[in-house]
Amino acid sequence: MAVTDHVDLNGFMEGVKKRNPHQPEFVQAVQEVAEDIFEFMEDKEEYHSQQILRRIAEPDRVVSFRVCWEDDAGNIRVQRGWRVQNNNAIGPYKGGIRFHPSVTESVLKFLAFEQTFKNALTGLPMGGGKGGSNFNPKGKSVREIMRFCQSFMTELYRHIGADIDVPAGDIGVGGREIGFMFGQYKRITNNFTGVLTGKGLEWGGSLIRTEATGYGAVYFLENMLATKGENLEGKTAVISGSGNVATHAAEKIVQLGGKVLTLSDSGGFIHDPDGIDQEKIDWVKTHKTHRRGRIEEYVEAFPKATFHAGKTPWGVPCDVALPCATQNELLGEDAKMLVANGCRAVSEGANMPTDLDGVHTFKHARILYAPGKASNAGGVAVSGLEMSQNSERRSWKEEELQQMLKDIMSGIHNSCIRYGDQGGGYIDYVKGANIAGFKKVADAMLAFGVV
Ligand code: GLU
Repeated sequence: MAVTDHVDLNGFMEGVKKRNPHQPEFVQAVQEVAEDIFEFMEDKEEYHSQQILRRIAEPDRVVSFRVCWEDDAGNIRVQRGWRVQNNNAIGPYKGGIRFHPSVTESVLKFLAFEQTFKNALTGLPMGGGKGGSNFNPKGKSVREIMRFCQSFMTELYRHIGADIDVPAGDIGVGGREIGFMFGQYKRITNNFTGVLTGKGLEWGGSLIRTEATGYGAVYFLENMLATKGENLEGKTAVISGSGNVATHAAEKIVQLGGKVLTLSDSGGFIHDPDGIDQEKIDWVKTHKTHRRGRIEEYVEAFPKATFHAGKTPWGVPCDVALPCATQNELLGEDAKMLVANGCRAVSEGANMPTDLDGVHTFKHARILYAPGKASNAGGVAVSGLEMSQNSERRSWKEEELQQMLKDIMSGIHNSCIRYGDQGGGYIDYVKGANIAGFKKVADAMLAFGVV
C-alpha cells in the first residue's frame, strides 16, 4: 500500500523551510506559488500522490564552482559561481545569469523556480534555470569583467548546451558580458551554437531581445487595463530601476501616451513632474550603461526634477506602477501607500519585486496586479525566439518579432484569466499565472513517471 503524503499547505511549507535553511528568498517564492497550488490541487489526487509540487520545488541540480580571476593590479580574486537547473520537463533549462554582490544560492534557487513557471507561461518549450555569481561588476574595468566572464565560462561550459541549458543575461549581465562568455564557450568547444541568448545581432542574436522585457511588461499592463475598458493614454506611471527593463518599460509607456514620473537606482529615486520623455530616457540609457553613472545626476541635467536619496518611489501618487529593479523592493507598507494613493494597476518588470505582504495587500485591494512571472516573461520569450532562429539558422524581421511578442503577452494574459477569474470583474493574476504555469509543467512530469 502506497503511503501518500497528504500534508496541508502549512505542513508543506514547514518541510520546505527545514530542507532549505537560511534561504529566505527561495522559501518566499515557493510559498507564493504553494498558496495557490494547494487550492487548485484539492480535487486532483494525481498531483498529490505524485508529489509534483514537492518535486518542482527541489532543483534537478545546483552546480556551484570557484571562479578565480586576476584584477588589474595583479591580485588573485576568488568568487563563487552557480548554475541552478530547476526543471527541464518541457524543454532545455533556460534562464539568465546574474552578477551582483547580493547573489546567493537562495536568490538563484528562487529565480530558477520562478523561471520554471514563467517559461511555461510563454507557451515556448523552455525549462527553468538560473545562474550567476556574487561578483560585483561595479567599479571594475572592462578587462577585469572580460577576465571574470572567461573564467566563469571555463567552468560553466561543461554544464550547458543548445539542447541542455541556455543561459542569458540578467542584472549585471548585458550584451557585453554575453559576448565575452560566448567567445570563451566557442573557443573552448569550437562550437558555434545557440548556447546563450541575448547575443549581438552579428553573431546570432535576435532583434528586439533588448527591449523585450520592458516592452512586454507594458503590453501586459495594457491587456490588464483593457479588461476595464481603459488604456495608458494620459496615465501617470511610477517606475523603479534605471537599467534595461526600466528604461524600455518607460519608453513603451511614453509611446502609448502615458507620463513617466520616476526612475531609481540603489542610491535613491528621481521624480520628474514634467514627465520623463524619450529624450530624457535616452539620456538615462547613455548615462547608466555607457557612462556607468548614478541616477542622482539626472537632476543636474534636468533641474526641474528632484532626487530622493535612499528612498523608493512608491510614495509618489500614480495611476500605474512598474517595479523594475530587483526582488523585495516593494514592501507591504509601500503596497498600502500605492493603493491609498489611487494606483490602479501594477505590472512587475523585475522578478519577485513585491514581498508576500505586498502581494497580499494588492490581492486584498483587488487592483490589477501582475506578478513578474507573467508580466516580465517578454524577455525570456524573445530569448526562446532567438533559440528558434538559431536552430533554423536564419533571422526574423523586426515586425514579425514585435507581433510575436505582443501575441505571447496576450496569450499569457489569457492564461491568467482562465485560471484566475474570480468573478465579479476581479482577476487574480497571481493565482492565474501560478496555476497555468504549474499545470503545464506538472502534466509533462506526470507523463514521465517517477524520474
Ligand atoms: N533574466 C531574464 C528573466 O528573468 C531573461 C532570461 C532569459 O532570457 O533566458 O526572465
